[in-house]
Amino acid sequence: MINVDFHIHSKYSGGTSGNMEIPVIAEQSIFKGLNTIGSGDCLNKNWLDHFVSSVKKVDEGTFEHKSGIRFILTTEVEDYRRVHHVILFPSLSAVQEFRDTIKDKSPNLDTDGRCNINLAGDELLDIVSNIDGLIGPSHAFTPWTSIYKEYNSLEECYKTKNIPFLELGLSADTQMADCISELKNVTFMTNSDAHSPWPHRIGREFNRLKVKDNTYDEIINAIKRRGGNEFVLNVGIDPDLGKYHMTACTRCYKKYSWDKAKETKYRCTCGGLIKKGVVDRINELHDQEVIHPPHRPRYIKTIPLAEILVEALGLSSVNSKKVQNLWKLLVESFKNEINVLIVTPKEEIERIAGEKVAQAIIDFREGKIYIEPGGGGMYGKAYLNKKNINQSSLDGYL
Ligand SMILES: [Zn+2]
Ligand SMILES: [Zn+2]
Repeated sequence: MINVDFHIHSKYSGGTSGNMEIPVIAEQSIFKGLNTIGSGDCLNKNWLDHFVSSVKKVDEGTFEHKSGIRFILTTEVEDYRRVHHVILFPSLSAVQEFRDTIKDKSPNLDTDGRCNINLAGDELLDIVSNIDGLIGPSHAFTPWTSIYKEYNSLEECYKTKNIPFLELGLSADTQMADCISELKNVTFMTNSDAHSPWPHRIGREFNRLKVKDNTYDEIINAIKRRGGNEFVLNVGIDPDLGKYHMTACTRCYKKYSWDKAKETKYRCTCGGLIKKGVVDRINELHDQEVIHPPHRPRYIKTIPLAEILVEALGLSSVNSKKVQNLWKLLVESFKNEINVLIVTPKEEIERIAGEKVAQAIIDFREGKIYIEPGGGGMYGKAYLNKKNINQSSLDGYL
């Protein structure tokens, strides 16, 4: 079993932390319990140079950092309709070939980590197939840059329904997406799409795969469900916490029902633009009751441990030193974050972090955490106590 996060961004992508470099990413990945992580941004020359000098080759498509963390070559690109795709590459020469093929179509290949390519989804699929890579939609239901904000089916975008994987995105889970019949053969991915290496970002979503070896080819076999390889778990943050979960104003983040949003012509009382939440987009696309196909793995909903600590300690930010130090102490004591969240007995957590923190983690396990949902570009927020929820942000919805 290996834990894999396929989608992150380097320091060369817009809006990312300058700390998104391989040694930091590797260190944080270990704390998260990841075994393998996508390089992200591998079409960017500066990033690729840094990557190649930071890892050693295991085989054509598999690389290892000295910490033991493995990497595969991945990127995200934006197509000419502003749809985002995740691409996996079988080798450095495949990355080079892809670069050569699209370089005249991309205005920012080496100036951004996530490049724009002036091609359609089906044209990208053709090029990816020629280099023997894999492509699938990123954060498939979000309102600005996803496949389903632009199209009503996979086929409209790629001119085929045979797409190997789809990234659910932070605002959706398996329960929501399995009411869309065209996705029954598609492997769902839960990836962090991290822009910073900090504990509540990198590896906040990951996939557990059954493979015979921790290599690119075995990972591809798991995506395609070949030779007994498969995804056995999707671990994702509670979709309510996703920043596009509900329909909401992009300026003041007030939530709206979709009917109400239409009524106001997508303008909030504050004048801001209202954007369709993932819940409402999936409602439009849904064409069956929830049916999980036999291959669909269990989906575990989590909340970043750092956010639980903030609440338990009554602090205001995940970036506080106290939270960061306690987070580190806990993950070092119990090997990684997912163990602390799901497995470690209460008494052992209490011994390290005290009663309040231990109880908060138990409350999370028992579903006793209250979530003020996200929307309009603002993450949701987890509370230990329901009365802390900001009701006024829900006024337009309730
Ligand atoms: Zn994206
Ligand atoms: Zn507003």
